[in-house]
Amino acid sequence: MAYAYDDQNIFAKILRGEIPNTTVLETEHTLAFRDIEPQAPVHVLIIPKGAYVSYDHFAATASDAEIIDYTRAIAKVCEIEGVKPDSAEGYRLISNAGVHGVQDVPHLHVHILGGRRMGRMVPPAT
Ligand code: AMP
Repeated sequence: MAYAYDDQNIFAKILRGEIPNTTVLETEHTLAFRDIEPQAPVHVLIIPKGAYVSYDHFAATASDAEIIDYTRAIAKVCEIEGVKPDSAEGYRLISNAGVHGVQDVPHLHVHILGGRRMGRMVPPAT
């Protein structure tokens, strides 16, 4: 079954400039901005500008240019935020997808979390 993209999701509205964001980085195909409810001292969301629902959707169907731009933007955000483990204390990268992934916003995003030691990778189910 093909992915259906809901263009009324909150990140689509951010990309259209309909609601504000605190931008960390913008490139040709990617936007990175601070999470509105940060779970750690560093909490940045990185989204492609294209209409992709989840990481697998993006990885399977985005252009090479989009994938390269997005991947490099992740590296750049880690550098900007000072969380690279070669020179700082590291980070956690999370991308939730679908119901079991507990994805709230149906536009691909990765979370970069850092600035504190994270807890268990997967907490017990609630
Ligand atoms: P997920 O559960 O992986 O879909 O995460 C969605 C994330 O989007 C949550 O961490 C929210 O705090 C964040 N979020 C929702 N609305 C906004 C917004 N307007 N600006 C920045 N982050 C947002």
